[in-house]
Formats: sequence, structure tokens, C-alpha cells
Amino acid sequence: MTGESMAQAATRGYLPVGDEDYVEDLNRNAAEGAGSNGRRWRQAFPELFGRSLPLVVGKAAAELTVAFTALGKADRLPQLVVFPTRSHEVSAHYEPKSDNTGLVVLSDSLFTLCSIYCRQLGQATFDISNTTSFVKLGLRMIIAQMKGTMGGDPARLAVLLRHHHINRRAHGMATAVATRRDVRDRDSLSHQDFSDLHLMPAIRFFLGHEMAHHVLGHQTECAHSPEQETQADLLALQAGALAYASDVKTSITPDRYVREQWLDDAGEFYALVASVIAMLAVQSLEDALMIRRGRTHLPARDRASSLIDLLLGDDRIRKHESAIGRRDQSFRKRIDSERVGLEALTRSLMVATEKAADFGESPYGFNWTGLPAAEVVMSGGMDLTESSRLDRLLSQPSEELAAALVHSPLSVGALHARLGDTRRAMREWGIPETVIDNAHNRNVGLAYYTIVDYLRGASHEQGRAGVELSDHPLIAATLTARQLPGS
Ligand SMILES: [Zn+2]
Repeated sequence: MTGESMAQAATRGYLPVGDEDYVEDLNRNAAEGAGSNGRRWRQAFPELFGRSLPLVVGKAAAELTVAFTALGKADRLPQLVVFPTRSHEVSAHYEPKSDNTGLVVLSDSLFTLCSIYCRQLGQATFDISNTTSFVKLGLRMIIAQMKGTMGGDPARLAVLLRHHHINRRAHGMATAVATRRDVRDRDSLSHQDFSDLHLMPAIRFFLGHEMAHHVLGHQTECAHSPEQETQADLLALQAGALAYASDVKTSITPDRYVREQWLDDAGEFYALVASVIAMLAVQSLEDALMIRRGRTHLPARDRASSLIDLLLGDDRIRKHESAIGRRDQSFRKRIDSERVGLEALTRSLMVATEKAADFGESPYGFNWTGLPAAEVVMSGGMDLTESSRLDRLLSQPSEELAAALVHSPLSVGALHARLGDTRRAMREWGIPETVIDNAHNRNVGLAYYTIVDYLRGASHEQGRAGVELSDHPLIAATLTARQLPGS
């Protein structure tokens, strides 16, 4: 192909993620955000994030290309462009182009969220398995199973997710905190393996899903057809399982004790765990950061349960048994225990995801006690106390929010917004007409931060001194967001 493809040209519609290592990128985000605490920040991310995000994405895409090739489905991949972005209206999507090329766009928040989930799961797995006593191991597993905490404490995870969401909503940055535990783990290296176990597979799943749309020749953008969604999920899972098994086989060589089939089965199971994490990251982002989703994915719970039914359901057993022509008790046992294991591992992640993403009016507000502020060593952007203060402020009923703006230059617009005339409110605040039109177009995705950003910009331009640095644009954006169509 000569010249630029339509997919390459389309990347200019999105903000790029920097080529510096990802920790540097987060630092820059933190410094640019108004909530910057000015401190240099070294996140205890897994090894992966010591590299630039485009590099990580390139590596995952290359591994998936190998897997798609093994599945005989790589013909269209040379025409695909994969682009990680800082743009706010994006979670993960695929855009087919009329010159047969395709573009996959992925939000940087997805990578951050996946790393938060994977660290939680890695730490929980480590805590349960860190014993040489089989009795202790068994007891810990039974207790965690009963308490629903195989995937760690949901209240703690919810705080970590909420902190990311609040920072992205208020300052437009993908960020995370480092806890004392993270620092201890980084120094001892012991849990690192457990986080990494899930992280790259989770990234491969959300990337693989979008690549699968291209491979399968889907002509619509994501999620116009639930059937195509399931096809893409299934193919991404197959490719992920192959990539996972090949990861494992580089460190464990099959012999007469470790059969190759076990490694393939493990590949399938952990690819499934990773797929649930990836789906939750997408759901987190779309529920928590968007006022309206443009191209929506189905909720993670529904996507996961249809995928789990396909892989670990009765149909699978029937097909397997009819292929070998007999009842296979050990296969039944394996499917059964994988189902129970997956349920147990991902239950607390699902609970935390839903809690953290609820930004409706709430008289009691979100529960921030799941992670004591003293546990946080370093925070990108706002610290935990500031995040929780802002959260409580913005979850108040609309009357209270409008009252908080009475002495602000934004007060007249706030009254219009409160009464549901959001167009007039936004005009009053000096937001450009094209942005107002977009904000009222049900078919276009809209991020909460977009409104905040324009409110700050307009306040700055109109010389409303200091308003852009105060809570007022956030209060006004919340009032507006509650009234916009499709919210
Ligand atoms: Zn899709």
C-alpha cells in the first residue's frame, strides 16, 4: 500500500499517549492536572509500566498476531492500526474503514484500571498461597471462599478504583495510588509474579477483542450486534489462551510430570480470568467516566456470563463427550472446578466495580474507609483525602449543588441547569455552540471531563478570576451531567 491508509489518517482525531515510559507519562499527567501536588511520583506498577505504553501495546499486538496466525485468522491484520490514546470520549473501540483498513483505539485509563485490578488479585492470591502448610492453605481458601474475598477485599479495591475515577473526572488524568503494601511487594518482588500473571493477558483480551472485530470483517462499530460482540469475545479468548500457554511454556517445559494438555488447560482458565478483568476495566471506564456512551459495550457481567457459559457450560461437556463417544468424569470435574474457581476469584472484583462507578446523587456518599489514607504512600494527582472530599461534595442533591454556586460567576447558568435548560446554562457559561450540540446529541459519547474542561477554559477566557481553579466548574458540570439527554 502506498500513502496513508484511512485508519492511519483517523488516528489524528485522538490525543496520543507519550512515547516516554508510562510512569513518566503519569507524572506529566499529574503535573498538568490542577490537582497536582507537585511531588515526583514513582508508581509501584508492575514491571510492564516501566516501558512506554505504545511499546506495551505493540508487544501485546505482536503476541496476538502470532496467536491469530496459529488460528488461521491473520489475513487482514496487516491493514490494522492500533492506537492508545489519552482522549476522554474513548474506552476501547474498532473503526472499520472503506479502504479495508481498520483502527483500534484504546484509552490509557484501561491500562491503569487493569493494573489496579491485577495488583489486587495478585496480592490476594499471594496472601492465600504464601504458606508451606497445606492445612493453612486449605483453611485460607475456605474462609476466603465463604467471605467472597478470594479476589481480595472489595471495599479496598473500590477505593482504589474510585480514586482513579475521581481524578479522571476532575482533572482528566489516568492515575493510581501506591500503597505501603505495593512498596513492600516491590521491594520483596514476591507478589510481582502474581500481578504480572494477569496483567498482560488482561491487556491482550481487550486489545484482542477489538482486533477480532477486524479479523472477522465486522463492518459496524463495536456493540451494535450482541452476536458480533460474543464472536469477538470468543476469538479474543482463544487467541489469549494460545498466547498465555506459549508464555507459560517458555518457563515450564512439558515432561512426563507436566503434561502439555495441563498447560493448555491452564492457559484457557487464566485467559478467562484475564478476560473478566479486561471486561470489568471497560465497564468501569464507561460507567464511571462517561455521561453517555457512544458505542457501548454490553455490561461486563453479561459479557462474562455468556463467555463462561460457552466455555464452562453443559454444552461444552456434551460436545466433548459426543466427540470422544463416552462420559468423561474427569473433564466434568475440571469444568466444574474452573467454574467455581472463576466465580470465587472475580466476585469481589465485580462488587467493587459497581460500587466505585456509581456517581448518582447519594445522601450518604461512597464509602472511603476501605483503604485508610495512612496506607497510601504516594498518590498521582489528588491525595485520598482530597478525592474523598470532592466526592462527597459532588454527590449532594442538585438543590445543594446549585446553592453552593450562589456567589459564583457560574450561578445564573447553574439555575438554568438545575431547571433542566442545559443548553441555556452552557451558553451562559460561554461554552462553544458546537460543544453544546455534541453534548445534546444522544448518539455521541460524552465524557464528564469534557464538560469540566470547557467550563474551566471558558471561565479562564472570560476572566472569572480563580473560578477555573476552584470546585465551581466541577459542581456546575455535575448539575449539567444529571440533566443531559441519555445520562
Ligand atoms: Zn466489540
